[in-house]
Amino acid sequence: MTFNDLNITPAILKALQKENYTAPTPIQEQAIPAVLAGKDLFGCAQTGTGKTAAFALPIIQRLSEEQVKPHTQRRIRSLILTPTRELAIQIADNIKSYSQYTTLRCTAIVGGVSQKVQERSLNQGADIVIATPGRLIDLINQQCIDLQYVNILVLDEADRMLDMGFIHDVKRIITKMPSKKQTLFFSATMPPEISKLVKSLLVNPVKVEI
Ligand code: AMP
Repeated sequence: MTFNDLNITPAILKALQKENYTAPTPIQEQAIPAVLAGKDLFGCAQTGTGKTAAFALPIIQRLSEEQVKPHTQRRIRSLILTPTRELAIQIADNIKSYSQYTTLRCTAIVGGVSQKVQERSLNQGADIVIATPGRLIDLINQQCIDLQYVNILVLDEADRMLDMGFIHDVKRIITKMPSKKQTLFFSATMPPEISKLVKSLLVNPVKVEI
């Protein structure tokens, strides 16, 4: 199996070649076709399996194929929520590299760095935002971010977000987005609170397990 077999577009294939990714990992083989088809996804996978590219590549592909009227303002069309600042920055770096031959822009919204700098970056326009829940809630409370055009949501390491006490923030963030959207949900474990969230958020999800 190659990335070409998964119908990945030439602009992304070129970036993958530069990264020396020769073949998709098992989770990528399973997740990419489902996400490209617009399906909700529940992924039970740890970091290290190629999970990031499994959701990032089809998101980049879907957003770059979406018709956006010329001269309209760039809007946040995908939000990726992740528990820690380090993970958010790592995901943003990966997405920047995978999307380097597209016109998409992404930015990370995390605590511990200047909020002003992040606001400026948001004002310049971003298609994809990777955020930790705490800082994102601050921006929402200050009405500095508009999530009403998000059509692909990723909850990465949902069980860790729960353990870190972010569940309330996550639920509030979700209320700021349209209810009709594609949701990709990743969690290594399934405590009751997580299965409740999965049931309330996902519609006929494809399940991938590694
Ligand atoms: P992740 O599980 O997303 O943290 O990815 C683990 C590591 O595998 C990262 O360093 C990725 O850059 C790398 N990686 C992801 N997918 C592939 C692939 N298809 N081929 C080679 N390396 C990959």
